[in-house]
Amino acid sequence: MMKEYIDEAEKALLHTYNRYQIVLDHGDGVYLYDIDGKKYLDFVSGIAVFALGYNNKSYNNALKEQIDKLLHTSNYYYNVPAIEAAKKIKEASGMDRVFFTNSGAEAVEGALKAAKKYAFLKDGTTDHEIIAMNHSFHGRTFGALSVTGNPHYREAFEPMIGNIKFADLNDFDSVLNCVTDKTCAIIMETVQGEGGIHPATEDFLKKVRKLCDEKDILLILDEIQCGMGRCGYMYAWQKYGVKPDIMTTAKALGCGVPVGAFLMTEKVGSNSLVAGDHGTTYGGNPFACAAISKVLDLFKEDNIIENVNQVAPYLEKRLDELKDKYDFIVDRRGMGFMQGLVFNRPVADVINKALEKGLILINAGSDIIRFVPPLVITRENVDDMISILDSCLESL
Ligand SMILES: *Cc1c(COP(=O)(O)O)cnc(C)c1O
Repeated sequence: MMKEYIDEAEKALLHTYNRYQIVLDHGDGVYLYDIDGKKYLDFVSGIAVFALGYNNKSYNNALKEQIDKLLHTSNYYYNVPAIEAAKKIKEASGMDRVFFTNSGAEAVEGALKAAKKYAFLKDGTTDHEIIAMNHSFHGRTFGALSVTGNPHYREAFEPMIGNIKFADLNDFDSVLNCVTDKTCAIIMETVQGEGGIHPATEDFLKKVRKLCDEKDILLILDEIQCGMGRCGYMYAWQKYGVKPDIMTTAKALGCGVPVGAFLMTEKVGSNSLVAGDHGTTYGGNPFACAAISKVLDLFKEDNIIENVNQVAPYLEKRLDELKDKYDFIVDRRGMGFMQGLVFNRPVADVINKALEKGLILINAGSDIIRFVPPLVITRENVDDMISILDSCLESL
């Protein structure tokens, strides 16, 4: 049965993914089930999305209630879920203004537009430059792709939006080398995700922040993957006290409902985008915002971030043990529940073997296994994951 579905899928869907050969049916807590009923321990959570775990009754009920009330209104009218969600995300982030989007890439688009408009209002010119990081990932739309530091992703789609320079994360001199009088923004992930789980260092972030303050350059932090509690703080930058001027969030923000947001300080908010500059039909609709609002409530009620901080050191310890045990594992890095095991060989066969044994893992680049589990995992879940992974590694 699974095979038939997969064959149909391969005839109909555009070939933009090499998918794992399973058809998923439902989820419960930290487990997923395929249509044949096979159970999987999930350490991917739909790529850092399902923070609360699957089938959270309180979350599901909030969505069902909103479906029966109102799904959509357009942004020409106010709606209570959006007002509630805006209030809560401001409180969680410490930012002042929010624009809700439908995805992470759209949040990045909005962030770039806000930065460009801010610079345009200062001097009336449009040839401003943006500094982005090598190995970064910001999404697949044109603006987001333009600041994505992976030439392979951009190659066929050139020209990009232009005036983008790439520096190296954690190499402040490389940033300085890119700065000109035209630099209007510096964009980076606080912890690089797709590019291989590289956290920005505190020293680097602080130097970049200081540079931005001196030159009135806007710092944009992309927290789409590393934010929403994953790194032990609501937003990873809160660990360092380096506040961005603009930040993006998505993935776990809706815990499965497709949403994103870009947020800014009042300084940027009152000196950038105005009516007519930006918009979206769906963004911030009552359904999406009911999801955001409930997610932010449940983060508090269920002490989600406390769980990350309690269990993450244990996850790190167990991963370090694997690193010590196997010569082909050369590094372990990350923050909280965003971890990478770095191999000196491709990891695709390991991930496939784990899948056979009922464990869902994902890579970040060809040589790194990425661990981005639901934020509700326990030590027992970590033990189960490690024992399956260990058995896969032993047979290599
Ligand atoms: C996933 C991701 C994006 C893109 O988000 P989409 O919702 O897939 O458009 C952007 N930035 C980072 C850091 C991401 O991890």
